[in-house]
Amino acid sequence: MIRYALECEHEHVFQHWFDSISAADAELAGGQVACPTCGSHAVRKSLMAPSIGGPKAVSSSEMLPSCAGPSCCAGACPAVSPDFG
Ligand SMILES: [Zn+2]
Repeated sequence: MIRYALECEHEHVFQHWFDSISAADAELAGGQVACPTCGSHAVRKSLMAPSIGGPKAVSSSEMLPSCAGPSCCAGACPAVSPDFG
């Protein structure tokens, strides 16, 4: 399932669930989606990005792929032991 923010010809913004991206395109092109506010079938995708699932977890593990020690970061890298050198 994919949720799109849609906008009708009267600038009513609403959200609608589709089975897939291709189904969304087909239903919008075929005028099968009606605005819940005014019933217009002149509906297009709003500028809002589609939402699939929940927010992605941000990983910070790739920020410090390697550290050469005090000569690299003067001990600022968390990967460096406090008693390094
Ligand atoms: Zn409308």
